Amino acid sequence: MSSTPERTHVRQTAPFRWEDVSLLAYKEDEGTHFKGVTRQVLFPGDSQLPVQWRYFEVAEGGHSTLESHDHVHAVMIVRGEGAVLVGTRIHRLATGDLVYVPARTWHQFRAPAQGPLGFLCLVALERDKPRRPTAEELARLREDPAVASFIRV
Ligand code: MN
Repeated sequence: MSSTPERTHVRQTAPFRWEDVSLLAYKEDEGTHFKGVTRQVLFPGDSQLPVQWRYFEVAEGGHSTLESHDHVHAVMIVRGEGAVLVGTRIHRLATGDLVYVPARTWHQFRAPAQGPLGFLCLVALERDKPRRPTAEELARLREDPAVASFIRV
């Protein structure tokens, strides 16, 4: 027997804000490895649809954590523009663009100096924790000058 979801419609109350969807801290820990990022869980996932669909917004001049993990991300840019590092490639991003982050691949999103970068990010409900690069891994990443100037830690 299937159960009816509690909520079948959620109103957008303001641009990129939704009724009863909390504006959350990006991560529980603190530090300089990210800057100006908020998180909203639009669909928390369940056994019928074991994914989470989140909206992240990076404030101007901000960035997400440079990280890697076994799970993958499917991302759609829905607000503003920016740039992303995926592996060793840096892509400029515009609204409507799609980004796929494969498993065990270093990635970091950056907003431009002016204006936010907002994106939808789909992940598996059950997933491993992101990890940050070791000093050795960071040194290896920095061997590429373009990557070295892009990343923020
Ligand atoms: Mn990630």
